[in-house]
Amino acid sequence: MPYLGLGVYQVNEGEEVENAVKTALSYGYRSIDTAAFYGNEQGVGRAVSESGIPREKIFVTTKVWNDAQGYESTLAAFEQSRKNLGFDYIDLYLIHWPVKGKYKETWKALEKLYKDGMVRAIGVSNFQIHHLEDLMADCSIKPMVNQVELHPMLTQKELLHYCKKQNIQVEAWRPLMRGENFDHPTLAGLAEKYNKTVAQIILRWNIQLQIVTIPKSVTDHRMKENANIFDFELTEQDIAEIDAMNKNKRLGADPDNFNF
Ligand code: NAD
Repeated sequence: MPYLGLGVYQVNEGEEVENAVKTALSYGYRSIDTAAFYGNEQGVGRAVSESGIPREKIFVTTKVWNDAQGYESTLAAFEQSRKNLGFDYIDLYLIHWPVKGKYKETWKALEKLYKDGMVRAIGVSNFQIHHLEDLMADCSIKPMVNQVELHPMLTQKELLHYCKKQNIQVEAWRPLMRGENFDHPTLAGLAEKYNKTVAQIILRWNIQLQIVTIPKSVTDHRMKENANIFDFELTEQDIAEIDAMNKNKRLGADPDNFNF
């Protein structure tokens, strides 16, 4: 799974998402993160198919939305997503949120899709340690990925440690905090030190911690900037300084208390 991908939440279906995906692919991105909920799977699929890059070189993630959770309904939702994308298989299929009383049945459907070869990897999103423990007490295949909100204000150390022990790849959503807190002195200082932008410092911090990261942008120069993070290295001290920014501050919903 590539360490860097393009996130396409709130990118409009049609021209906007097609252009964003094509531009990202031209800058070397080989991973795209979409979801049934984002309503733009068709555009993502078209852009991938029209890119001229072989399908197997591009890693596409999509997710089952909350209202489709349950065994049969997840199988149907997967088939719809696969058709929307226009692919024979999907690289990574995730449970979008841990819907109480439903996610174990949903997981059984993901296990079937994996065993049937319809999806190359299966995982979860927004799962806390207790959700993972509950799921793993009852599953035949462990989640391979957990995609969670993670950024300098929410460093998720305990979850990271747990997932590492369990061999679950952590993936950061909202890594750039939607552009907030970019004037924080630690980030601004590191940007100056390396002659990089704050976005590049944050994304590099993700990668050095072996966290997959999926920044969103539809702006050409930002997509390019966000991919230009492989030519410098933060020191352990720099990483510790970013880690110390943690405020356990969520910008999105709380996985233990959401109502959608
Ligand atoms: P993000 O942190 O990636 O922020 C994106 C915003 O940051 C952009 O719209 C732009 O305003 C700004 N930005 C991007 N590049 C920049 C740069 N170089 N300099 C300055 N500003 C820049 O937030 P996000 O879109 O919420 O998260 C990224 C992806 O994570 C989503 O697109 C989606 O794929 C995924 N996601 C998943 C979940 C989930 O529940 N699994 C939830 C939210 C997002």
